Amino acid sequence: MKIQPIVHKTLAEAVAGKLTASLLDGSLQPGTQLPPERELITRFGISRTTLREALKTLEKDGFVEARKNVGWFARRIDESNMTQAREMSGPARQAERSARSEPPTGPIRLPIASEKPIHIPNLQKDRFGTFDFISWWDREKVQNAKVMVVGAGALGNEVIKNLALMGIGNIFIVDFDKIEMANLSRSVLFRETDNNRSKAEIAAARAKSVNPNVHVQYLNGDIMTKLGLGVFRRMDVVIGCLDNREARLAVNRFCYWINKPWVDGAIQELLGLVRVFVPGQGACYECTLTEQALRDLSLRYSCPLLARQNILLGKVPTTPTIASIIGAMQSQEALKLINNMPVEPGKVTHFNGMVNEMHTTAYSPREDCASHWTYGDVTELPARAERTTLDDILRIACADLGLNAVIELDQELVTRLECSTCHTVEEILRPLSEVTFDAGRCPICGELRETFLTHVITGEEPYLHRTLASVGVPPLHIIRAHNDEEYRFYELTGDLMDALHFRDYESTIKLAVEKPARIRIKDKIHVNATKETPVLKVRSSRIRLRD
Ligand SMILES: [Zn+2]
Ligand SMILES: [Zn+2]
Repeated sequence: MKIQPIVHKTLAEAVAGKLTASLLDGSLQPGTQLPPERELITRFGISRTTLREALKTLEKDGFVEARKNVGWFARRIDESNMTQAREMSGPARQAERSARSEPPTGPIRLPIASEKPIHIPNLQKDRFGTFDFISWWDREKVQNAKVMVVGAGALGNEVIKNLALMGIGNIFIVDFDKIEMANLSRSVLFRETDNNRSKAEIAAARAKSVNPNVHVQYLNGDIMTKLGLGVFRRMDVVIGCLDNREARLAVNRFCYWINKPWVDGAIQELLGLVRVFVPGQGACYECTLTEQALRDLSLRYSCPLLARQNILLGKVPTTPTIASIIGAMQSQEALKLINNMPVEPGKVTHFNGMVNEMHTTAYSPREDCASHWTYGDVTELPARAERTTLDDILRIACADLGLNAVIELDQELVTRLECSTCHTVEEILRPLSEVTFDAGRCPICGELRETFLTHVITGEEPYLHRTLASVGVPPLHIIRAHNDEEYRFYELTGDLMDALHFRDYESTIKLAVEKPARIRIKDKIHVNATKETPVLKVRSSRIRLRD
């Protein structure tokens, strides 16, 4: 394999390419005058020499012309000057040259990015200015993007840090775990003083301090039970930074149901892998599991109370270095998805840090994969999980589907626990996630009792007056109903404002109110009303996340 030399672009070439792009997309009409040099210099954050160099290049190709004592004017782009420009530039041309071992002749210009309208950044003031020089980077898409990061451990820390640095506009962080000392060796966002605090909360606060331009929201809870599907529905990409199969399987199914791409990452010692799953395009996560793994998963679920407890154990040894490598790759895949750049769904890229080998292979999709199902149209109801009862939602379903409609809950509901020794029955009616293994034991004899579960509500139940929230339905969830023939999907859209806002850590004012001491300091600023910065410095150093 012949390795092609990397083409380096000078700043002048990049600026010339940008101006050409705006000629091609019509934002600079032929015959119109370019902005004054002074303005271009400020907006690009470049020197006069660099700008002149860029303009001279464009003049040579006949894209612009100088009118003496007036300025620069755009010219019509036609076949002749386009051909001339292509002659001088383009990766194909350069590859040809290097194949013939010829030195590049004349200035090498960047390929024209005609699809991208011009934006002239001010590199002195604009944090994301340099990204605009990336031909496919769409600033608006990146700023408006909504990305969920599931898991704020070693991988999650790296991913969140990268998303914040790149200015991914809205970041939703989910984790149920607390920070412990051993996390500090692998987590760039955590500090010693964070011990025992929520990982999701601290990661969100630090993302905001890495880049105050991004909006963050966090959920300190379990992805499998506490997050409504309506949140997934409003994301552009989901990034899984998980360490167990159960959570991956849950994320995979949720994403498939509402047709969202997700990026999985996994690390162990110096090994790691990255894979992108897009519903309907190649294999999904469940397709990658062996028969044995699927059997193991169902075996663990056969004792439901124990299965949940086991998920919480199991720690994998990793290094911060492999977390950086894999987390960086995951962040890039998400960035590509946001910018509509091609990705390779259903494939896995393995990285072996021991021997520095990387290879990509495709998984085979399974015909009979249980995850392959995508919801139809979702009906948005002004209902809330806290206020809507099982009866309410069943009535709506019956109106649409007929009297044989039933509701399918996503989480198993523990209805009762029975002790076969003492012949006692305890009515429970709580979601499985809220019933601990110990609670499963008989208070009289200590034996493990039999657990009775259901996830189908038919209308016969004596507990139809219970709210959806009380049976474990999270806010903004999408409820599934069906008769024997078809399904309907109802979103609890009344929860939208509370469940999805990206306003966490939006201002320090809220924090100041929580601490009386800070109000006093604020008063002081009012009273003294001087421009002395030391006062402000004291104030900002006192701001802590929350007590
Ligand atoms: Zn599958
Ligand atoms: Zn008993």
